[in-house]
Amino acid sequence: MDLSIVSPVYNEGENVKRLYAGLMEVLLPLGISFEIVFVDDGSQDESLKILKKLHDEDPRVKIVSLSRNFGLQVALSAGLDATQGKIVITMDSDLQDEPSYILKLIEKWKEGYECVYAIRQKRHETFLRTFFFESFYKVFNYLSEVKIPANAGDFCLMDRKIVDALKLLPERKRFIRGLRMWVGCRHTGIPQDRPARPKETSIKQGFKKLFNMGFDGVFSFSYVPLRLAIVMGILSSIFGFILGLKVLYEKFFTTKPIVGWTSLMVTIIFFSGIILLFLGIIGEYLCRIYDETKARPLYFVKEKIGF
Ligand code: UDP
Ligand code: MG
Repeated sequence: MDLSIVSPVYNEGENVKRLYAGLMEVLLPLGISFEIVFVDDGSQDESLKILKKLHDEDPRVKIVSLSRNFGLQVALSAGLDATQGKIVITMDSDLQDEPSYILKLIEKWKEGYECVYAIRQKRHETFLRTFFFESFYKVFNYLSEVKIPANAGDFCLMDRKIVDALKLLPERKRFIRGLRMWVGCRHTGIPQDRPARPKETSIKQGFKKLFNMGFDGVFSFSYVPLRLAIVMGILSSIFGFILGLKVLYEKFFTTKPIVGWTSLMVTIIFFSGIILLFLGIIGEYLCRIYDETKARPLYFVKEKIGF
């Protein structure tokens, strides 16, 4: 098998049909052997039915149907696990990742790159979403030792070597954009002008899912939030020590009455806030440790078709 396409599907309905048609237009002239692995991430609409029909018409279409909605990163992982191709391309099924880019990705692979990703130049998104996307990459790269290229999404080509390496990583909170860089590969990007989501298609990665993904990314690639507690602790200790000296001096060596209800309240509220914040941060790491120790399988497959 030369090429595997992996595409996660969550309530995409007719979009998968259009994606299939688009893929055929690009892949057939290449004259290579390929498979298209759709991962049905617990869709509640007719996506699975449409996928099954596609498979009946063309056995190169394969389906991994998950037992429920596990989220994009897990769906991608399930897809990668099922592939056999020498190269693997992951792309969204909502037509925002256009099949025509596949040729450009493969070209770069031929030049010797093991990981080629599309870099989003323009986004047709709301202001708020764009703002969060842009900020995320900045924050992530500031905090993490493993750097990820800004605006490089999940639309990418990976060499078999990279996919096999990813499969060895057992972690449950998967942030593939980071993991593929962590593995280490010769990588490059190609510019992509990402079209808007088709009108009748709703956003599947809402703010909640995006934030979860962002948190997973940051907390599984950086210890900086934890270390921040040490820095804050040292700073406030120094501050407290100096203030303590001043107060003690005033108490024993002057007759100035000690007032300070206001400053006391402000200090208590301020530091309670900081303590709670860091408890929360520790909690974020703790729940991730908990998840890993439970060692549950990453996903359950309800049905595997065409393998
Ligand atoms: N998706 C998925 N599971 C989910 C959410 C999304 O498999 O829980 C799929 C979805 O069908 C689409 C891709 O992931 O193919 C990207 O989703 P979306 O278009 O909402 O994200 P965005 O384009 O904003 O990154
Ligand atoms: Mg999309």
